[in-house]
Order: sequence, then C-alpha cells, then structure tokens
Amino acid sequence: MGLVLYNTMTRRKEEFRPREDGRVLMYVCGPTVYNYIHVGNGRAYLVFDVIRRYLRHKGYEVFYVQNFTDVDDKIINRAREEGKAPQEIARFYERAFREDMQALNVLPPDVSPRATETIPQMLEMIRTLVEKGHAYVVDGDVYFSVESFEGYGKLSGRSLEEMRAGERVEVDERKRHPMDFALWKASKPGEPAWESPWGMGRPGWHIECSAMSLQHLGMGFDIHGGGQDLIFPHHENEIAQSEAYSGAGPFVRYWLHNGFVNIREEKMSKSLGNIVLVREILKHYPADAVRLLALQTHYRSPIDFGPEALEEAKRALERIENCLFALDSFVARPPARVAPARTQREVELSDSFFDFERRFEEAMDDDFNTARAMGVIFELVKELNSYLDEQQRFQTPASPMVASHGRDVLLRLCRVLGLLAPTAQGEGEDVACEDAGKGEGDSLPTAESLVELLLEVRAMARERKQFETADFIRSRLREMGIRVDDLREGQRWKFVGKEE
Ligand code: AMP
Ligand code: ZN
Repeated sequence: MGLVLYNTMTRRKEEFRPREDGRVLMYVCGPTVYNYIHVGNGRAYLVFDVIRRYLRHKGYEVFYVQNFTDVDDKIINRAREEGKAPQEIARFYERAFREDMQALNVLPPDVSPRATETIPQMLEMIRTLVEKGHAYVVDGDVYFSVESFEGYGKLSGRSLEEMRAGERVEVDERKRHPMDFALWKASKPGEPAWESPWGMGRPGWHIECSAMSLQHLGMGFDIHGGGQDLIFPHHENEIAQSEAYSGAGPFVRYWLHNGFVNIREEKMSKSLGNIVLVREILKHYPADAVRLLALQTHYRSPIDFGPEALEEAKRALERIENCLFALDSFVARPPARVAPARTQREVELSDSFFDFERRFEEAMDDDFNTARAMGVIFELVKELNSYLDEQQRFQTPASPMVASHGRDVLLRLCRVLGLLAPTAQGEGEDVACEDAGKGEGDSLPTAESLVELLLEVRAMARERKQFETADFIRSRLREMGIRVDDLREGQRWKFVGKEE
C-alpha cells in the first residue's frame, strides 16, 4: 500500500492518487499580513512543509502555491492605528513572514500570489457567479447565496438548517440567508478600492483563495491545506464559490487540516491574546527544536505548547545531534591499515538500517504519521549509540563504514522531515545523503578505504602547505562523484554522483 491520507471531505483515510501521475498540485492558505506570525501559524506552515518534503521524497514533483492576503479589514485597521498606508503594513509583514519562514527552514513556495495582484480574476469569478444566479448585489456589496449551491456544508458536515438555528449574531437584513457571505465589499472612504461593475470596492477573503488557487492550479487540484479553523467557513465557502463558478467539481481532491497549537487547552490566537511569536521563540530555541516539537505530534492532533514541551524537544534534538557527532568522530578516526572485516554485530546492524528506513516510510505513508516516524528515528539513535558504546568499551577494530552508513541513514531520515536540513535557500543543492553509504564491502580493501587513504594524503599535503596537491585530490574526487567537505573536525566525504 502506498501513501494514505486523511481527507477532511470524506472523513476517512484514502489512498493518495494525484490528478496527474508523478505530480502534486498543492495550495495552502497563506497569512493575512498585518502582524508577526505566532507559533500556531508557524505550525501550519511547518506541517505543510513536511508534507511537501515527504511527497518530494516519494518522487513526486510538487508544485506549491501559498498566497498572501494583503487586503483585509485587519490590515486596514492596523494601518489606521499606525497612521500608515495599508499597502505599507502589508508589505512590511509579508517581508517579516518570509524571514520567519526562512528562519524555520520552511521551503519557499513555487508561487506566492498576492490578493491585490489577482483582482481581475476575482472580478471575473464574481461576475460569473452573479450571472449564474449564485450571487446577488446589495448597495455595492455582492453576496454569495449559500442556498443556491446544493453542496453547501459538505466539508464541515453542517446543514443549512443547523447553521440558521445556530446563528446568534444579529442577522443582516440585506442578506437572503444568514450564512451568505461577501464576495465583494463596497469600500468606505480612505480604504483600498478597485473599480468593479458594482462600484468601487474590494474583495472578500474567501474569493481571494478561490481565484488564486484556480489561477495557478486549475479545478480539481490535489491538496488544499490549512489549519482546522479554516474548515468553516473559509474552505466551505471556497468550495461553494469555485464549484458554482466552474459548474463542475470537485474543486479539490484532498483536503488536509492541521490541529491547533494550544496554550493551557485554549487555541493560541491573536483574539485571545495568548500568542507567542515565532521570532520570539527563535531567539531562545533552535528552529529544529520547534520543528521537532511539531513533528512529535501527529499533524491533526493538538499540541500543548509551553516551555516544558520546548525544552523536551530541544533535548531530543540534542540526542540526535550528539549521536551524529559521535558517529562523525568515530568515522574520522585514523583508519586501520587494512579495512577490518565486519563483525557479526556490524553485519546485523547494517542489515537493520533497511528495516529502520522501511518502518519510517510506513509511518509517513500512514497519513504522514511523523510522531511514529520520529519514534523510529529515536530507536535508530539508541541503536547507534549502543553500537558506539560497545566499540568504546571493547576497542575492537571497527569498520568505519558501518558507522558511516548509520550516520547517513540517520541524517537522511531526519532530512526527509526537514530536520538538520540544508537551509531553505540552498535547497536542492545537497543531494549527498541520497546516495551515501552505498557499495559496502568487507574483505578486500574497499573503494571507501582507498578514499580514506587519499584523504589522509590530502591532510598531510595541507599540513605541509602543499595546497595544489590538496586541491588536486579534492577536484579529482569530485569528478568521480565524491564530494569532500572540510569541517572543523576534519574532512568529510560523501558519494554524491557525478556532476551533470
Ligand atoms: P491566519 O493568518 O489566522 O489565517 O492563520 C494562518 C494559518 O495558521 C492558517 O492555516 C490557520 O488555520 C493556522 N492557525 C492559526 N492559529 C492556529 C493555531 N493556534 N494552531 C494551529 N494553526 C493555527
Ligand atoms: Zn484561503
């Protein structure tokens, strides 16, 4: 069985089959840019970053769109408070968002459309919805008529009757049904406004995401994501508008929603005033600790956020880092004159690596169960630590290849999840771990031990300031597909394949 994921629409796990073989089209609701993002928002973007990375790891080409909502009441209010133009506020917090994402090592989207740059597409959609009788105009506002769309409520599992009964706020007399929502809002003086057939105005939030996702991905794209608070009304409304507009469905094949970050069992949110900013946390904790905290819980479950949880995540991260460091030091030990044969223990350990990788993949294939996948990673850490411990105690001549292979497997699994990954800017550059650890041999001196020998010669050359020789060895190795990095602790090499 391949990848299975929980679809909010059908409320069950389904086998994942993208519209187009080998390609995944994905849209995630981006931020409304009027403030720095908090850890709850951060979780949403981390979750979809991990999902995107895993899909890539499975061999899919992923096209990822994430918008900026840069026109909204909240932006206008903020601008008013600060005596600035709304556009200035929006651009400032858009930049801040990009910085936060980079600091969290979230890969940048392939396209980040802004709402204000997609107005013509929105107007076209709204015009069609009015023409088709799905929307009506009142005093320069345009509302979507939820009763005109048969499937309204299918994502959130609510019926229109329930919604009407549950409506507590004072009903706007101008609306035909209390759940009707604005596609277009007539502007008040001093607000950002665009010309439209209904007078000067600006779009409603929901139509923005429909227009931007349809523009870049078309009807029936694969994955639409966001936090669980967006299921209703935002995503319900996106479906209604898009399917009513196109006259066909479905708008989206798989709906994915992340659980909340809570503080003392309450959702972290600006309105409750219990937020912790991503940039504040990153002053005190490494980004990978925050990522690890997110990974240790299944993406649909809530996370209780607090200093203890973060401290624990930091310690867990250190366990992985320490293990990698110990493996590095072990591998960097001067090699034996002839590579020793692997012991039975080493043969078994090597074989078990495949099993770790398989279990990791099984966990991730099961609706991106990162909590279980992290469990596998920590078991591997434990196994590698005990191997290193035995080596320390018994001082047997060890094949550095086993430790080196273990190190590569551990790093590779972490990196699939974006942990200890090269920075987002350099993404795609480091493919080293994909191919490392191949071609292990155990009796004749192996190619690996010859590489080690060459590196010893290179180290000697460098000591004697014969840099030409050192560079020559490095560049010839690179031509053969072996990359050498000079680290503080010494040289590290990896088989990365020949350069194109
Ligand atoms: P917003 O800017 O409020 O639209 O939020 C941006 C993203 O963060 C959306 O996908 C929200 O669903 C998500 N989000 C907001 N608050 C939380 C929270 N406390 N926990 C998890 N996700 C959240
Ligand atoms: Zn959206």
